Amino acid sequence: MTGETIAAIATAPGAGAVGIVRLSGPAAGRIGRALFGTGTLPEPRRATLRGFVDAQGEVIDQGLALWFPAPGSFTGEDLFELQGHGGARVLDRLLARVLELGARPARPGEFSQRAFLNGKLDLAQAEAIADLIQAATETQARLASRSLQGVFSRRVEALVERLTRLRALIEAGLDFPDEDLDDLGVGEADFATLVEACKTLLASTHQGELIRDGLLVVIAGAPNAGKSSLLNALAGSDAAIVTEIPGTTRDLLRAEIQIDGLPLRLVDTAGLRPSSDPVEQEGIRRARAQIEQADHLLVLIDDTAPGEQGTARAHLDELGLDPQVPVTILRNKIDCSARPAGLMTTAEGQTEIGCSALTGAGLDALRDHLKAVAGYRGASAGEFSARRRHVEALRNGLERLLEARAAWQATAAPELVAEDLRMAQQAFAEITGEVSSEALLGRIFSEFCIGK
Ligand code: GDP
Repeated sequence: MTGETIAAIATAPGAGAVGIVRLSGPAAGRIGRALFGTGTLPEPRRATLRGFVDAQGEVIDQGLALWFPAPGSFTGEDLFELQGHGGARVLDRLLARVLELGARPARPGEFSQRAFLNGKLDLAQAEAIADLIQAATETQARLASRSLQGVFSRRVEALVERLTRLRALIEAGLDFPDEDLDDLGVGEADFATLVEACKTLLASTHQGELIRDGLLVVIAGAPNAGKSSLLNALAGSDAAIVTEIPGTTRDLLRAEIQIDGLPLRLVDTAGLRPSSDPVEQEGIRRARAQIEQADHLLVLIDDTAPGEQGTARAHLDELGLDPQVPVTILRNKIDCSARPAGLMTTAEGQTEIGCSALTGAGLDALRDHLKAVAGYRGASAGEFSARRRHVEALRNGLERLLEARAAWQATAAPELVAEDLRMAQQAFAEITGEVSSEALLGRIFSEFCIGK
């Protein structure tokens, strides 16, 4: 338990029927007693009607006080929840009084961080709290709730348990170097099941990450290819201005959509062409910077324009693009050309899609294609929410497991096998926060809102 008592308004700003001030730490009980103007604490975990008074004894507000003595609280510390009226000024006054009595303002996520440090939640569950609060789609909220309930953490723990058993057997061999390793009861199958279990969990975690973070899809191409029209057609709204005048889109235009629960952040960029107009030049600079950030690039080509029938590579060269991310070439305006709608494979083996941003032809094929290249299996395949750092930890761990298996197969020194297994375990332990650095915790909890 840390020495400081923290306090914050826990409800969203603005007027509401109820507003909550929360305080946690060793002085919570003393502050509560002073605030109620009584010498007594309410019965633990029972809603109790109290007046909250200022230094002069004047009632700031009247509401419910909930007292959670340590360790039976969210943070594991002494904790008060004061439910008053949800007005901005009244809550400010209530918080000011609590600070005057010795609490200090909580930093973002500090209540959850204390819950984690006191063993009330593991790190993946703490992250799930932030994900649940920030969920923009129903699927995101459902999966974050499952992670908060520990669905993901239990899967990680099961993997770690299996790994620990194997490690124990192999490390036992190190203690008795004369013993034949075969006699330890370790076999190829033990490594195979572990690797399989890790791959299965990695696949589920990747789905969870896709549903949480989605893909950044950047639309690029020459002026007038139909980029803004495509953004509007996919978003189902007039987010972007469409004109026949080339160079209309100067800045980045964004729209957020979902395909079967897969969130896509679409960005329409300025048309790429040589320009002497400084505003357009800046737009093109921003477009190129955004292209570098993309998870997937859609390069739009006007299929009716003369000289636009070249290969994908020729188009990318012409636009000065050499993207490091997956690219899909879209042949747009097929309502005015002879090309069929949908997916096709070029003579060079490149996937292209014929479409019309105007009529919507070929856009379903584009949606399916984006799901396929992301490896997205649909909202119903999501089991829990996850983040990129979880996927990376599992990938690192898997790599170590494969090395351990290879060392085992090559009958290398058991020390090497044991060391690889130890590193794999460490990678997995980063997910639940058994192994974590100050910097990682700082990064995770600073994303939270204040009061959580
Ligand atoms: P951008 O400069 O690439 O963003 O292109 P716009 O979306 O502004 O479109 C340029 C012009 O092409 C506009 O007149 C659009 O109406 C037209 N356009 C866009 N997509 C299509 C399409 O699929 N078919 C046809 N016939 N016209 C299109």
